[in-house]
Amino acid sequence: MNDKCPGPTVLSPRRPKLGQHFLRDPHICQRIVNALAVRPAELLVEIGPGHGVMTRLLAHRCHKLAAIEIDPALARNLRSEFREDARVEILEQDVLHTSFTDLCERYQARDCYVFGNLPYYITSPILHHVLEAWKSVRHVTVMVQQEVAERLVASPGSRAYGYLSVFVQCFTRPQILFGIPPGAFSPPPKVRSALVDLPVSPRYPDEAPFTAFLKFAQLAFAHKRKSLLNNLLSSFSRSEAEAALEALALGPRIRAEQLSLDQLREVFQRLCL
Ligand code: SAM
Repeated sequence: MNDKCPGPTVLSPRRPKLGQHFLRDPHICQRIVNALAVRPAELLVEIGPGHGVMTRLLAHRCHKLAAIEIDPALARNLRSEFREDARVEILEQDVLHTSFTDLCERYQARDCYVFGNLPYYITSPILHHVLEAWKSVRHVTVMVQQEVAERLVASPGSRAYGYLSVFVQCFTRPQILFGIPPGAFSPPPKVRSALVDLPVSPRYPDEAPFTAFLKFAQLAFAHKRKSLLNNLLSSFSRSEAEAALEALALGPRIRAEQLSLDQLREVFQRLCL
């Protein structure tokens, strides 16, 4: 491995209000539950159950439901409500400090299904955290901001395509299931939301170069307006970077978002392996 490959970027989440927008429309809640591909014998992990509006419906859909809630008051109420339901366990903790591998071990499950109406202020860190544990996660279905949903499913060449698209598409085949208006929540968020389905299907399951590839992709997309070549110059010499692009018949002005995932990986392989 070339030691000039860039190091990891630290994502530092803010937590001002815990992203608390609670679903209040029962038709939408039911529509979401109907859209989940969870299996009856499966471990389901819910991120941020809040007041439990989804938890009540989800408990009937799985063998075991572990719901992770950071807010102590909400967790206490839920624990009291579900104390006699052996299927449901409320875990008062930060999802970003929760190991999905340990959860699977604890419930003797090979892997789990992850659902969440995500706190939007940490959408990206949560997706990174969950998908980095891809070996323990079979399927993810989450509600995110519409604009983020579009980035997750974006194709190369489109405006929405960027590092987040590459990251998520390395692990999953994302699909937007349907949009959800602000009025479905209390209090209503300022933005539209969407339910996104992320069946886990790693594109490059060979783990070590996979991690390095993602670090490389961060570098390639570091400055969206810059060419790929200019972004690469922060870690590679001009001659190395130009040679790698030329060998793949890619011009010096090409930008990272114009490359398919496989083309970006080929550039990575030439420079880093
Ligand atoms: N699932 C509920 C619903 O649909 O009505 C609540 C969804 S609300 C958008 C997000 C929930 O995530 C809140 O209950 C919030 O307290 C919780 N939360 C925020 N940050 C969290 C974190 N780091 N770990 C676990 N839960 C968190």
